[in-house]
Amino acid sequence: MKYDVAIVGGGCVGCSVAYHLAREMAFDVCVIEKEHQLASHQSGRNSGVLHPGFNYPPGSLKARFATAGTKQMKEYCAANGVPIEELGVLVVATDSEERARLTELQEQATENGVETELLENEREIHEHEPHAAGEAALYCPEAASVDSQKYVHSLAGDAENAGVDFYTGAEVQAVKTNGNTHRISTSIGTISSTYLVNTAGLYADKLAHQMGVGHEYHVVPFRGEYYELVPEKRHLVNSMIYPTPDPELPFLGVHYTRRSDDKVIIGPNAVLAFGREAYKNTQFDITELLTTLGYSGFWRLFMSEKMIRVGLNELHKSYRKSAFVKAAKDLVPEVTDDDFQRSYAGIRAQIVRDDGQLIKEPLFEHGPQSTHVLNAVSPGLTSSLPFGAHLTDEIIANLDSV
Ligand SMILES: Cc1cc2nc3c(=O)[nH]c(=O)nc-3n(C[C@H](O)[C@H](O)[C@H](O)COP(=O)(O)OP(=O)(O)OC[C@H]3O[C@@H](n4cnc5c(N)ncnc54)[C@H](O)[C@@H]3O)c2cc1C
Repeated sequence: MKYDVAIVGGGCVGCSVAYHLAREMAFDVCVIEKEHQLASHQSGRNSGVLHPGFNYPPGSLKARFATAGTKQMKEYCAANGVPIEELGVLVVATDSEERARLTELQEQATENGVETELLENEREIHEHEPHAAGEAALYCPEAASVDSQKYVHSLAGDAENAGVDFYTGAEVQAVKTNGNTHRISTSIGTISSTYLVNTAGLYADKLAHQMGVGHEYHVVPFRGEYYELVPEKRHLVNSMIYPTPDPELPFLGVHYTRRSDDKVIIGPNAVLAFGREAYKNTQFDITELLTTLGYSGFWRLFMSEKMIRVGLNELHKSYRKSAFVKAAKDLVPEVTDDDFQRSYAGIRAQIVRDDGQLIKEPLFEHGPQSTHVLNAVSPGLTSSLPFGAHLTDEIIANLDSV
């Protein structure tokens, strides 16, 4: 059988495209996933937070997708029984510079159509989070926490019920194109399609390069590690507590998230992973590590003194629990080393351009009978429904001309 569209990668982006394409009825679609379980990588190893869009520049794709995505995902989760906690988030300022930044964030939120409230002192902060410390905080009630694995499985279930075929345990190894047919060699056999959608996350750049697309972009994998609060200390955090973000840095600092299963996780930090799926700080994939270290864009990214300092700090937090706890104590001073136990880790597929530019916006490019999602970094989970719908519109327009 030849499919109209083959989607490589069964994370939230691939499954969202499958879900939206399936609604069109007119196409034969399949999803090819190398793991036996969907959502085994970024989509199942994240904080699960719906970021309502106060933290992104007005007019950007990120702001648009995050704001719409939060609303759409809440509706989707409610309609499909996906666990979600709508608890809101507090972004805490610990000095006057951060306080000024909160005002900017609030203006940005208003422009993006996101409701926020500025809490002027610790007393107001304590009305929401009695154990948090800070000079001021921005409260955003729209933020929520979802079970991201259950969400992806639900999307995939909907797509499958509408006729999409799922091949799991099927790693795409090569793609050959003959006329208007892609012959996709996988670890379980060959699958043919007219169109290919590359949503392979940590390996999306490799597949894109194989198909002649996006040569100036490479994934640099950044691991994010989490601790969790021991059950008897979970009462210290009611909802989500974030530090004020530094606009010059790509990742949010260590924060607290009360998840939909009631666990309170702390993290993630951001350290260079020594392999695209090296989830422990003792794991290496030597070929992948050498490829990253041999990439000129990586060194250009780390050329500034600030990035080097931040990189070393993050590394320190990875190997020394006390350094991690110290960062977390800035937000909740009562916590101690004994309250933290190691939890899971995720790895961000961060795209870097050859000139050292770290790409912050969602990025996709079209190739011959194909679409390649090169960058779907955070808030990629939050954005997955509108992003998938947007990609689907483009794919359908491209299919018309094949
Ligand atoms: C630590 C961390 C915290 C985050 N926190 C948040 C958050 O709180 N809120 C938020 O909105 N976003 C968050 N994100 C971002 C979000 O998780 C990602 O943007 C999103 O999951 C990306 O989804 P994806 O489908 O593109 O990639 P993935 O989920 O990685 O899916 C790609 C899939 O492709 C498969 N694949 C790869 N190569 C092949 C191949 N050759 N053949 C077949 N299959 C292949 C992989 O196995 C994988 O399942 C976080 C990410 C991380 C890492």
